[in-house]
Amino acid sequence: MSGKVAVVTGANKGIGLAVVRAVCEAGFDGDVVLTARSEQLGREAVQQIRAAGHRAVFHQLDITSKSSALELQRFLKNTYGGLDVLINNAGIAYKNNAPEPFGEQAEVTMRTNFWGTLWVCQALFPILKPNARVVNVSSFVSKRSLDKCSPELQAKLRDPAITEEELCSLMNEFVAAAKRGDHESKGWANTAYGISKVGVTVLSMIQARTLTKTRAGEGILLNACNPGWVRTDMAGQSADKTPEEGAETPVYLALLPEGAKEPHGRFLSDKKVEEW
Ligand code: NDP
Repeated sequence: MSGKVAVVTGANKGIGLAVVRAVCEAGFDGDVVLTARSEQLGREAVQQIRAAGHRAVFHQLDITSKSSALELQRFLKNTYGGLDVLINNAGIAYKNNAPEPFGEQAEVTMRTNFWGTLWVCQALFPILKPNARVVNVSSFVSKRSLDKCSPELQAKLRDPAITEEELCSLMNEFVAAAKRGDHESKGWANTAYGISKVGVTVLSMIQARTLTKTRAGEGILLNACNPGWVRTDMAGQSADKTPEEGAETPVYLALLPEGAKEPHGRFLSDKKVEEW
């Protein structure tokens, strides 16, 4: 019932797997739980990490399933008495030439990147220990996409007082408009992935504010970050960073030392806070 524990979502490959490896290599004082939606792919990845002499544990997690997130919560509570580090890395992006209609792409992308991340947080935040660190992996595309939205939407999505309910409604409005085919005339940028990541960045700011109020004095820090453009199955081989380089900013935020007061509720690239 003791010992620290870190959880990484979508960690069977790409940036998530590199994050697991880097957290282990940094000498994390506890277990790193490598989660994946595929049990087989997740267990194979854990074997790779263990073969390098590190302590990694597998647990299944499909972020689009609330029950899967609650099962992980029970496992963490029973085994470790809570959670010290959560890295929400899992995400999807349709390829540019994907045949699915835009409305469908918007719904599926939003369900994974935004709602999935939110559901994992809702399941695991109640068991966050004092001094916990939460990192939501967003994207540089989030900022670029917000800049392409109408001034009205930009103002709403940059409002420091926006609530989680308001953000959830806006994300639903985007998907509904995408299905009708009028999202651009309603002021949205023409990108399902980009708007889902706008959601992740703004959600992080709201979550940090809420934690500051509800868990005051516990030293919990939560941030969103951009890993950069990284050579993975998602971005392809022409991207400029290795997965190890892509893991640097998420791992920096995950391992902010005890007693650190910032960053908190910010969006970072290359370990630096960016204006939203
Ligand atoms: P990959 O496609 O290589 O890896 C994505 C991971 O997420 C896989 O393990 C995948 O599992 C997992 N995943 C997808 N859906 C789910 C789900 N429902 N439940 C659990 N796991 C799921 O992408 P990257 O490593 O490049 O991306 C990692 C994160 O970084 C993403 O959030 C992405 O948006 C973000 N990012 C990436 C950039 C890049 O240039 N690569 C740039 C900016 C942000 P499976 O193998 O089963 O599909």
